Amino acid sequence: MKGMSDIAANLESVRERIRAAALRSGHDAAAVELLAVSKTHPVESIQTALNAGQFVFGENRVQEILIKQPQLPEKVRWHLIGPLQSNKVRKVLPLVEMIHSVDHLEIARDINRIGGELGLHPRVLIEINLAAESSKHGFTPEKIREQLEQLYALDRLYIQGVMCIPPFDPMPENTRPYFVKLRELRDELEKLGGAPLPQLSMGMSHDFEVAVEEGATIVRVGSAIFGSRPSKEPTPPA
Ligand SMILES: *Cc1c(COP(=O)(O)O)cnc(C)c1O
Repeated sequence: MKGMSDIAANLESVRERIRAAALRSGHDAAAVELLAVSKTHPVESIQTALNAGQFVFGENRVQEILIKQPQLPEKVRWHLIGPLQSNKVRKVLPLVEMIHSVDHLEIARDINRIGGELGLHPRVLIEINLAAESSKHGFTPEKIREQLEQLYALDRLYIQGVMCIPPFDPMPENTRPYFVKLRELRDELEKLGGAPLPQLSMGMSHDFEVAVEEGATIVRVGSAIFGSRPSKEPTPPA
């Protein structure tokens, strides 16, 4: 079993690898936010990370944020990184400082409307499905070019950047072209929309260093900090 002290050591090691990747690629390491992805892990693990100076955590399910948030100090900052359904928007908006996963126009409209009703200005990222994978959420590059203006018309939203989950490849170097593509699309959308999109949310446990080299401003790191998650597959009988 992973000891609690491993979490502190893992955090330090991930931070050090971010610093090194930023240094060798001419980026400012201080401008890279480490989002600790705590999904499936218990509040005790989050508390340990908090004690080690980690304040910002990512969850992919609203339900899990609703359960964990009241059990932890208020200084914990939450980001939603998984798909959001309309009927959960009202509950989650007051609890999260950023939603990374705005993946279609309708949910953006719901967040905008409910944000207005709650007196909030939600900070969001646009999720991009770079490889147009049918199994993945997000705007394809074509779709976002087409619908950017409609997103910018939603006046409660602070649209702060873009996010991607590239096709998995065990070799991080093979994912680099996707990170480059996301950055270039971001640059294009800034010109198209006439507004800055400073945040690039990209890179996970196995490829965050490459993402930092390509300009990531938020890396979403789970298993490299908290250890592996329980497998979704049921364990076959022995
Ligand atoms: C689970 C998850 C991560 C973290 O994955 P690790 O490989 O454990 O680092 C990052 N982003 C999203 C959207 C996730 O769902």
